[in-house]
Amino acid sequence: MRKPEVPLCWFNRHTPIRDRAKWDGTHFISTCRFCSTAIRRRSHGQWLKDWQPAEDSQPAWL
Ligand SMILES: [Zn+2]
Repeated sequence: MRKPEVPLCWFNRHTPIRDRAKWDGTHFISTCRFCSTAIRRRSHGQWLKDWQPAEDSQPAWL
């Protein structure tokens, strides 16, 4: 049976678009290929939703 590509985003386990990961000085950051959210690599192979987004990504009203 074919393994379905069920995103684990609901469990805060995201899958990066590999070609677009970049180093921000602390962690690798990328975008989830499934839900397009900003993600950050906490440890090897473990990508979580970005918990400390860059300042320039804050809403203008802050
Ligand atoms: Zn995701």
